[in-house]
Amino acid sequence: MTTEPLQNYINNEWQASNISEYLDVVNPATAEVIASVPLSPATEVDRAAKAAAEALDEWRRTPPTERIQYLFKLKNLLEENFEEISRTITIECGKTVDESKGEMRRAIENVEVACGIPTMMQGTNLEDIASGIDEFMIRQPVGVCAAIAPFNFPGMITFWFLPYALACGNTYIVKPSEKVPMTMEKIFQLLDQIGLPKGVVNLVHGGVETVDAILDHPTIKAISFVGSTATAKYVYGRATANGKRAQCQGGAKNPMIVLPDADADMTIRGITESAFGCAGQRCLAASLTLTVGDAQDWFTESIADAAASRVVGYGLEEGVEMGPVITPQSASRIEGLIQQGVEEGATVLVDGRHAKIPSYENGNFLRPTILQNLNRNGEIARTEIFGPVLGLIHVDTIDDAIAFVNSGRHGNMACLFTSSGTSARKFRYEAQIGNIGINVGVAAPMAFFPFSGWKESFFGDLHGQSHDAVDFFTQKKVVVERWF
Ligand code: NAD
Repeated sequence: MTTEPLQNYINNEWQASNISEYLDVVNPATAEVIASVPLSPATEVDRAAKAAAEALDEWRRTPPTERIQYLFKLKNLLEENFEEISRTITIECGKTVDESKGEMRRAIENVEVACGIPTMMQGTNLEDIASGIDEFMIRQPVGVCAAIAPFNFPGMITFWFLPYALACGNTYIVKPSEKVPMTMEKIFQLLDQIGLPKGVVNLVHGGVETVDAILDHPTIKAISFVGSTATAKYVYGRATANGKRAQCQGGAKNPMIVLPDADADMTIRGITESAFGCAGQRCLAASLTLTVGDAQDWFTESIADAAASRVVGYGLEEGVEMGPVITPQSASRIEGLIQQGVEEGATVLVDGRHAKIPSYENGNFLRPTILQNLNRNGEIARTEIFGPVLGLIHVDTIDDAIAFVNSGRHGNMACLFTSSGTSARKFRYEAQIGNIGINVGVAAPMAFFPFSGWKESFFGDLHGQSHDAVDFFTQKKVVVERWF
């Protein structure tokens, strides 16, 4: 690992930032400093925006069939470097290598889907809307676009946007999370090898000031953001006030409903993986379980056993099932929220606080925690914890459970475990939630579906991935044509 400062990639060149302020990048399992990242100033965003603007005309005129040839090359390079990128994700983000590989697989799938752009970007037409007059709609790129990414998926999330933006003829700027900048640095080393014209893709590292410069830059026409709800709301407000398109995905509080007729093994496996996979730092992590009727009897003991037996440690090591959380501040925040849940009336069924992992005493570790009898009217039943904590609430009927789900502030994901098709249909029909799982604990849409999200989990209209991304990265032009 190098502690050399990371560099920005602008106009196909690696450029050291002019700023004197660097942030340490820290391995969350070992507490070692593994890199330092510049908090780039507005002047560097401006340089990237100018490079992207200069590249735009040639790039948008490059036929889509040619544009996707670069994506085929990128896909091959991502495959060749799959192990190394996955390892980098684990080292800077903490998740297990298998989880990192899952993330990169989805990133690659998005490149594959975007290779279908010659079909996906097609418009529509109708001849003879009046005698001898034809009308058709074509799609054109939006211009210079930018992505602002969170820490928890250092590789994948940029790929909900970037391959579609490029394939549609836009030029691009990526601002990764300053907590996990190394993965995107590696990916840009691959982008550097595929021979894109100068300025088509640019990487600018940084924090809040860098984001503000992106949001205020007049050349940048569209913003894709993923992060916490507070920042998503802020980014959406500032971007749209500046006349930009914006799609801003926010936080989550994902409930699982367990009916008495659910398959017990499948339910425990699904909810354990959802709540504690990626140490609960997933926008699709199970945060609450609502047991309905008799389900409480078999569910509570089994989920406690599954949580207590999860192997916690350094994600690079064989057999580890759960890594650390991202920072010491995050670990303290999560422990504080567990305490608040207790003060609101919950009992700690499985206590994962103050975990010490042999050989990794300085890591930001918690073990899985389960809060029983969570106060359904309390704050902890509503607030995103973003750590390996599952709250249990008991309700009498599926209607109570759905009413609770619909009363939440977020709308990212909800899942139902049942063997009844009737209950499943009722739930998917009535739940006011963007991503629904039926007997599935992490209902992550494949790359050829949009990654949905409602209410405070999403600000905007068009989501990432697939056709929504194509709609976001193109503007429609309608032509009415008469020839004599
Ligand atoms: P975050 O909001 O702290 O940071 C996200 C990005 O915004 C980073 O690039 C950061 O540099 C920037 N940023 C942070 N504060 C800012 C501010 N005040 N002004 C301008 N920019 C700012 O989020 P995070 O902690 O990196 O990520 C975790 C959050 O992301 C969780 O809430 C999680 O649910 C959410 N998330 C949502 C989805 C989804 O699809 N809905 C997916 C992944 C993560």
